[in-house]
Amino acid sequence: MTTTVITLDPAGQIHGLPTYPWQGAPQGMATRRQLAQLGLRKNGQDPAAQLLRPRRRRPPLVAYLYRIDLAAPRRPFTDAKRAAVHTAARSRQVCQGPCGRRDLGYIPPELTGRRCWQCWDQANTTTGGR
Ligand SMILES: [Zn+2]
Repeated sequence: MTTTVITLDPAGQIHGLPTYPWQGAPQGMATRRQLAQLGLRKNGQDPAAQLLRPRRRRPPLVAYLYRIDLAAPRRPFTDAKRAAVHTAARSRQVCQGPCGRRDLGYIPPELTGRRCWQCWDQANTTTGGR
């Protein structure tokens, strides 16, 4: 399986930070929430990159990315516990919409009915018009 990663601004020339589309987080980077799911904290590092999700009529949604290799454990984790946390997080990264994608890389929010952003956007553009 291959994933196409479209980088908006990998050099950070436009936005000041390397910038990627919402689902295009580079390997080895995670949001604060994802770090927490891995039992990690950002350990004082500044954001290494950001994800942008365009929104209609509003400024884009921003998620800051931190380097996993610079993160520190929140507390001592046994390998078993770490694996359990990882598996639990993964099992929730499933789109409940038509695409049914697994391994979204994020947990679809309640707001979208646990659908991925693509399904949500699609539903909004096809049925959202008044
Ligand atoms: Zn979907």
